[in-house]
Parts: sequence; structure tokens; C-alpha cells
Amino acid sequence: MKIVCVGRNYLAHIAELDRELPVEPLFFMKPSSALLLPGEPFVYPEFSQEIHFETELVIRICQSGRCIKESLARNHYDAITVGIDFTARDLQRQCIAKGQPWEIAKSFDQSAPLGTFRPMSGLPNPGDIAFGMKLNGQWAQQGHSRDMIFGFDRIVAHVSRFVTLEAGDCIFTGTPQGVGKVHPGDRLELFLEGQAVGDFLVK
Ligand code: ZN
Repeated sequence: MKIVCVGRNYLAHIAELDRELPVEPLFFMKPSSALLLPGEPFVYPEFSQEIHFETELVIRICQSGRCIKESLARNHYDAITVGIDFTARDLQRQCIAKGQPWEIAKSFDQSAPLGTFRPMSGLPNPGDIAFGMKLNGQWAQQGHSRDMIFGFDRIVAHVSRFVTLEAGDCIFTGTPQGVGKVHPGDRLELFLEGQAVGDFLVK
């Protein structure tokens, strides 16, 4: 499986990092070794002093496809959860400044903690999903799918123009505002429609 991540998909987050507004979904990928499942600790990596959390809705592909039409995209994903797109912000700044690829800042091992998936059929419509993350018991980020610049169907259609989506692939759909640092000892709890879907400790 592969992990596809969309960047710059919420206006308020683009503003907080002072980035340009995208005209098409911007995406990058993480390898399967980036996955971190509930119950496993996140071990703070030695190569960064500034690991940021980005709390994101994540959809799971159930039916493979390439060049998927936006109008048919909904048939290609059937489950949703919340995940963290961990980002080494110090390394990302260096990569951007030098015009280099940013895999070392985004695609390292354990950089994709993932909650437990819920069937889409058990939720309200895809444009109306609330999610969030509590850091040490306090809300750190709260978001809503209606605030996404590009919705799930547009993302699936766009990514599949370039990369075949396969059953089991996960797509992180961008972070709302409120990204920030984690530290060893922190606890991150993920929520989808008010229900806890994942719990991670930073070591
Ligand atoms: Zn992200």
C-alpha cells in the first residue's frame, strides 16, 4: 500500500504557514514504513528538533483505478479515519529554501500515525465530517471537511491522473489550522465525529 498526502487544503492553514493558494490539489507520498498504528509509540527522531503534528482526515481506497472521473470517485473509497501527518518542520524549511525534495521532512518512518477506520456508510455525507486531536487532554486542532478547498472526490480524481490508486491505499487530505510541535511525553488522541479513533504516545 502507499500513503498519499494532500498539502495546502485549508485556507487558514495556508495563511498560518504563509504559503500560496493551490489551483490544483498538491500531493506527495509516504512509504508504508511511515505507518504507525494505535498502541505503538512514536519515537521522536534524532534528525529533527521541530516535529509538528498535522491532524488530517484520511480516506481508504477500496477499489483500484486510474484516471478516475470525479463523478465516479465516490465508488473508490469506503472508509475514513483521522491521522497525523508528522512533519520535520526544520528540515522542510531547509528543503524548500534549497528547492530540494522534502521526503526527509515528510516521509520518514512513523510519520503517519493512523486511527482505526470507520465505514463511510456510518457517517453523514462526506462534506460534513468533524474531526480533531487532543494534545495532553486539550484540543490542539479541530477541523471540518466542509472547509477543505478540494473535496475527497476531486482529490481521488486528480491523484489518479498521475498515480494508480490501489485498494488499501490511504489518502491524507490536508490539515486545518493549529499545527504545532510535539515533545517526548506528549499524548495525542484522535477524534472522528466526536468518537476516539486513535491514541499515540511520543517517546
Ligand atoms: Zn499534511
